[in-house]
This record gives sequence, structure tokens and C-alpha cells, in this order.
Amino acid sequence: MSNTISWQESPVKKRLEAHLPGEIPILPMRRYVSVVILREFDSTAVLTTEGQTLDVEMVRSGRKYSEPISRVLLQKRKQIAPERRAGRAFNRDRGLGKKCVFLNGMCGKCPDCLIYGFAATSGEGAHRSRVLTDSGFAIRPYEAMQRSITLNAIDDSTKGGVSGSAFAEREHIRPQVFFPTIETAVDVTPAEFLYVLRNILTTTRYGAESNRQGFVNNHVVALLFGHGELISNLSLTQGVYDRLREKGGERFHEFPLERSEVEKAVMDVLEEEAKRSYLPVDVCAGEELAAFLAGVRDLWRNEEANAEWLQELESDQQAYLAKLK
Ligand SMILES: [Zn+2]
Repeated sequence: MSNTISWQESPVKKRLEAHLPGEIPILPMRRYVSVVILREFDSTAVLTTEGQTLDVEMVRSGRKYSEPISRVLLQKRKQIAPERRAGRAFNRDRGLGKKCVFLNGMCGKCPDCLIYGFAATSGEGAHRSRVLTDSGFAIRPYEAMQRSITLNAIDDSTKGGVSGSAFAEREHIRPQVFFPTIETAVDVTPAEFLYVLRNILTTTRYGAESNRQGFVNNHVVALLFGHGELISNLSLTQGVYDRLREKGGERFHEFPLERSEVEKAVMDVLEEEAKRSYLPVDVCAGEELAAFLAGVRDLWRNEEANAEWLQELESDQQAYLAKLK
């Protein structure tokens, strides 16, 4: 048996090729691949935009159970920014985008600019983002997962700390809080999709300033291939809430949730939505997804296969830039 691992021949690429465009289209084709991620906070984290209180929104608890509850939000920007940073560091490590300065002075040519988009800062064009996201909502109510922590003045004076907030109390979320979220890549090539997936799978810190961030495990639960978005994050969370409450009773939210049960509930909701969808949805989950991710791991851990993938990423984007001219 040969141990040669190649990107071109890999089942990963074949699976993606069946749905995604072979080249980056100039005009939208609306080929969607959604990554359904269960984001699990493993430590306390600050999820505030400004000030000392968590970002909270009052919404209906479920789709079936409709009493309103307050839910902690994981803002869109808080999900994407750390993942972009992971990708940008990876690019710099390979000698790409060294002159690309986030937000002011973006190069417009690196994988980060071309996939996640950029706004023109000096009249040099702009690019829409091909990665769609939404704010994520915690499953349990705010009261069950909030905790105020008095900040230590000494810690705050160290470099990278938050000045001016010494001795202040800030709300943290407790560990083992889950945010079911979906990130959708549109009209990306197989090589580009793998770049987005790499950023998701290798980012482990989310939250406010670096010393207040929490460790996050991004569990990929499913990949959805189709011509649209299946469900919103809020609706997914509400569907999960219904199922967990049906099973665990009214007070299910008083204790940390069990990951396998949350994943099962997520799958249930997705399958129900897929059945209702007007357009076909190809769901990759369970054993098939496990095999896919194992294939991805093999690719990244193999020097030649990894180089082959990155070469294709570059040639996909060079071809696109040439077409734009
Ligand atoms: Zn750039």
C-alpha cells in the first residue's frame, strides 16, 4: 500500500469539487458550503463590546417553547476577526501579504483579502467577502452562564492589559458554554475552502482583549453543500433549545450541557431543515465527516500535499486577479 498523499488525488478535494467551482467566478454563482460549528468555550471569557456587561439579546427561547429569554451573543466580528488573524499569520509565515495591513492598507491580493474581503482605503478597489456569518447565540439563558469577576489592578497594568478598568467588575461567561454557529463560504474553490476551514480549525482564542479571551474548541458538526443558506444561527439555537428541553425538562439549563447531546440536537435540527428545503442540500456529517476531516489532517501534516494545496490556492487566485484586469 502506498503512503503517498496528494492534494490532487485526495478524497477531500474530490468531495469539494463535486459542489464548488473550479475557478473563482467573476460574477456570483451562489455555490454555498456551510460549516456548522459548535463553539465550546473551555474557560471563562469576556464577550463585551464596550464596558462591563456581556452582549446580551432578548429573544424567544425556542421555536416551540416561546417564552422570551436573554441570551449571550457571540458577535459576528468576534468570530471572524480571530480566524482572519490566524490566516494572516499563516500567510506571512509563507511570505505572503507582508505589506497587507488589516483595515488600513490591505493589499487586495492575498488569500485573506480575496476570501474575506476588504474595503478600499486609497482608491484601490474593494472586494466583497465570500464568507458569510451571523452573530451566534448561547443555548442557555444569560443568568445560567454569567459571572462577574473583579479585575486585578496589577494584571491590568501589564502590557496588553486594559487600562482604566482596574478594580472594575466585568462579566464573564462561565466555561462550557456552547454557541451553535454556521459559517458559509460562497463561490470559493476547493483550495480556498480549505483555507477557511484551516482558520476555523486552528483558532482557539475568542473574546475581548487578548488577556481576557477564552479557549474555544470549534467542533465541526456538519458541512452543507447547496445553493443557499439552510438556517440562521438564532433559529438553529432555538431548535436545539427545544430538543434539549424536551429531553432534559424545564430545568435542563441549570447545569453545563453535554457536548454529544448538543451535537445530536444540532443534527436533528439540520436534518429537519434539509427536508423542508426547496433546493437540494447535501449534508456531510457523522462518519463521512469524520473521514473527511481525517483526510484534511493527513493533507496538512504531509509536506508535499500541503505545498500542493497552497500552490493551487495561489494559482486559483492569480488566475482570478488576471481575469479582473
Ligand atoms: Zn491582503
